[in-house]
Amino acid sequence: SDRIISSEANQYDEQFEMSLRPQKLSQYIGQHKVKENLNIFIEAAKLRQESLDHVLLYGPPGLGKTTLASIISNEMDVNIRLTSGPAIERPGDLAAIVSSLQPGDVLFIDEIHRLPRSIEEVLYPAMEDFCLDIVVGKGPEARSIRLDLPPFTLVGATTRAGALSAPLRDRFGVLLRLEYYDEEALEEIVLRSSELFNVEIERLAAREIARRSRGTPRIANRLLKRVRDYAQVIGDGKISLAIANQALELLQVDSRGLDYIDHKLIISMIERFKGGPVGLDTLAASIGEERLTIEDVYEPFLMQIGFIQRTPRGRVASQLAYEHFGYTYPEQI
Ligand code: ADP
Repeated sequence: SDRIISSEANQYDEQFEMSLRPQKLSQYIGQHKVKENLNIFIEAAKLRQESLDHVLLYGPPGLGKTTLASIISNEMDVNIRLTSGPAIERPGDLAAIVSSLQPGDVLFIDEIHRLPRSIEEVLYPAMEDFCLDIVVGKGPEARSIRLDLPPFTLVGATTRAGALSAPLRDRFGVLLRLEYYDEEALEEIVLRSSELFNVEIERLAAREIARRSRGTPRIANRLLKRVRDYAQVIGDGKISLAIANQALELLQVDSRGLDYIDHKLIISMIERFKGGPVGLDTLAASIGEERLTIEDVYEPFLMQIGFIQRTPRGRVASQLAYEHFGYTYPEQI
């Protein structure tokens, strides 16, 4: 998606995100519970001189799962291999990766819920006993060979823990759930990134960017980058509150971080369906979007801020949503 407020990474994000990624747990802003837990597990594993238990990170895109995986490898002083569920198609792909690991290394599998079932089954003994049973040859020649693996730490990331099969989920010793960030944490992230970008920014401007970032560091950094461009072209490069507001207006990101698609969705609910309840399929058809896109991409944040509620009979726009878009909330009877 090329929405500026999409929480999914796009092709432009990759390089500059790398440069902004915190390297150590102490530089990782917010997520206090997650950090506190991880810190203990890491210290304990180091004391025992063992590899860290397998870790499952779950939460919406852009909240820092990949970042955390690389922090784990830094803190454990080991290497990290990055891959993703859909990228591992055959057992041989997995075998090639795990057999190249050094003792203690971190294997990061993004979107682990999209791992094919056949691969999952190969993964179980790898996670449990650090060995791999693979079938070589075909037909009557086929035989199974067992490969011993070095102990390693699997860090899996998923946007929905519920999409993971129970046997896979059960094989993770550590389950950590990332939450949307509050404004203070996002402001801190914007200030930190500005420093790395070497750009001057007013605290209030950082707060304004934070407020419109949908609780998501990836979006905060992306907005900052665009506001910085604007400040360079229109002003003297310094990001003041006025410059930030102008730039954000130009980007059509409103005071709550909503854009035209969110507007279209909510206004359609209000004007065409009297605020709901309206079924997801009907809503999808009415704004010309895929049902799944609404469910996975647009709706989670709108529910998080209480603009949309999910009921058994469909989606309902809340009073907050009515007021935000300047509509009068109808009397409830
Ligand atoms: P995910 O894997 O959950 O989609 P990423 O780890 O790729 O998210 O994070 C996206 C970007 O947000 C990273 O480049 C990183 O710079 C920034 N980021 C995420 N979490 C934090 C954090 N806690 N502190 C500072 N920056 C963060």
